[in-house]
Amino acid sequence: MRDLGYRWGSARPTDGPPRINVHWATLQLPPSLIDYVLVHELAHLREINHTPEFWSIVDRLMPGYETQRQPSPP
Ligand SMILES: [Zn+2]
Repeated sequence: MRDLGYRWGSARPTDGPPRINVHWATLQLPPSLIDYVLVHELAHLREINHTPEFWSIVDRLMPGYETQRQPSPP
């Protein structure tokens, strides 16, 4: 974990073990958002760009992530 500047986190798919860096400030977010950031970065290990495939991976890891980002009224 290190200071990544303006990004919440980063993931880089490499030949070696996958690495995910998360911005220290991420830990100050609500737990549901922390989960989202981690899932987001995990998905980047499979798909580096924000393609439809990327979002389907996110959806598989965290079903209903849309509502996690923008809580809808009950
Ligand atoms: Zn991303």
